[in-house]
Amino acid sequence: MIRFEILSIFPEMFASPLDYSLLKKAREKGVLSVSLHNIRDWADDKHKMTDDAPYGGGCGMVMKIEPVDKALTAIKNKIRDDVTVILMSPQGELLNQDIARELSEKKNMIIICGRYEGVDDRIREHLVDREISIGDYILTGGELAALVLIDAISRFVPDVLGNEESAEKESFSNNLLEYPQYTRPSVYRGWAVPDVLLSGHHADIELWRRKESLRRTYQRRSDLLKGAQLSSDDEKYLEKIKFENI
Ligand code: SAM
Repeated sequence: MIRFEILSIFPEMFASPLDYSLLKKAREKGVLSVSLHNIRDWADDKHKMTDDAPYGGGCGMVMKIEPVDKALTAIKNKIRDDVTVILMSPQGELLNQDIARELSEKKNMIIICGRYEGVDDRIREHLVDREISIGDYILTGGELAALVLIDAISRFVPDVLGNEESAEKESFSNNLLEYPQYTRPSVYRGWAVPDVLLSGHHADIELWRRKESLRRTYQRRSDLLKGAQLSSDDEKYLEKIKFENI
């Protein structure tokens, strides 16, 4: 079972995405648990303030350290086990499939969702194990980023996907994009599915899929190929694609 504890000033934002499809089923099966905590519950002042003006001036507000620290202490005391504290941040490590797979091996994670112009930097410096970004753009808060992270991690947790193999065959596993997929009808408005997929020849289908995966990766994300494990046949096929520029 993998457990996520979410620290946010808008915990309600998490309700519906977690209530559909695979994440819902995984929670019902008890292989995934998500608890939501409102950072305001740990704010001491009568207005329950979680932000304050930045030292040195400037626009916007900054998330305060005390409520976050108190919330972390309370949740850690409840869990009494190893916990990885993650801060969602555009300045963090860029999330990818390897990071998602690595984090899926953790048992307990606390995810801090920033807001405002950002969080007091002492949170990052003293209270956090990892900072994760979901891309080179700025969101209004960490909640959507945390949902993306939870979703990506959960696909690697055994029993979340119906078929455990599929997480390992998807795009970015082994640094390759996935081959194209089709379903019925075999011809739609004159657009036909590749014949080989209807042939019933398993080995031919596997070979076609491998080649398509290599071709797609070369055409769309050739940067990924550096980290891919390639056989000599793969290398030869890539040389052919490069030569023919197909
Ligand atoms: N001023 C900050 C900066 O330039 O680094 C951005 C603050 S952003 C408006 C507010 C919060 O949204 C951040 O503290 C973080 O938790 C979250 N956030 C925004 N963009 C993100 C991204 N690309 N990945 C992860 N979290 C993000």
